[in-house]
Amino acid sequence: QRAATTYDRVLLKISGEALMGSLAYGLHPPTVARIAQEVKTVHDMGVEIAMVIGGGNIFRGLSGSAQGMERTTADYMGMLATVMNALAMQSALEGLGIHTRVISAIPMDQVCEPYIRRRAVRHLEKKRVCIFAAGTGNPYFTTDTAATLRAAEMSCEAIFKGTKVDGVYDMDPKKFPEAKRYDRVSYDEVLLQNLGVMDASAIALARDNRMPIVVFSLDEPGGFRGILAGQGTYTIVH
Ligand code: UDP
Repeated sequence: QRAATTYDRVLLKISGEALMGSLAYGLHPPTVARIAQEVKTVHDMGVEIAMVIGGGNIFRGLSGSAQGMERTTADYMGMLATVMNALAMQSALEGLGIHTRVISAIPMDQVCEPYIRRRAVRHLEKKRVCIFAAGTGNPYFTTDTAATLRAAEMSCEAIFKGTKVDGVYDMDPKKFPEAKRYDRVSYDEVLLQNLGVMDASAIALARDNRMPIVVFSLDEPGGFRGILAGQGTYTIVH
């Protein structure tokens, strides 16, 4: 049955590290399957879902360039890492009977679709989960910026950022038990206090396009569905 939700179309952003589970590197198939299940429960509510997955579990441009690699080359490697994660998520979702498309900002026709905005919108209308890969296609950006860009382009109502904690805190809640969680926080305060929700360019882009960011815990089973139905704890950056 359909649970009440006020959302018709959302974008789910997860980091590459969310797919790592207990591993130190790469993909943990049971964790990928669990997140796919979370996506399915929201898809079953009739919500149209776009996804952006990071690549940090495989490669990060900044660490590559710190090891002497040219920054742009390292960033392209990071973008390719996100394509691998997107394909893993596609496979897990299709295993649950959900129709999906992986759509890459860097064309690689044998592997997935190139990004064509109108075509992607059509997929969403047909209830296909669209997994946007290769970030923005540009070095010096992150997948948080890509998530904000795609959410705006797809007219999503909000970005749901699944993390390890249930919202935005004034201090790291894993280190400081007295840390306070915000129910709501403004884009400007996130930037000013350096709250580490997303990088500054992503927050600024969200602010300029009035795209709300809902930060919630992806570790909570059924959490994504609950948040969409207005339950559980989370922070809205607005
Ligand atoms: N990246 C990039 N341009 C983009 C998106 C990503 O160059 O538009 C590269 C960048 O090197 C980044 C890597 O891809 O370090 C992986 O993405 P990200 O760090 O955002 O992944 P996450 O931290 O979410 O796992």
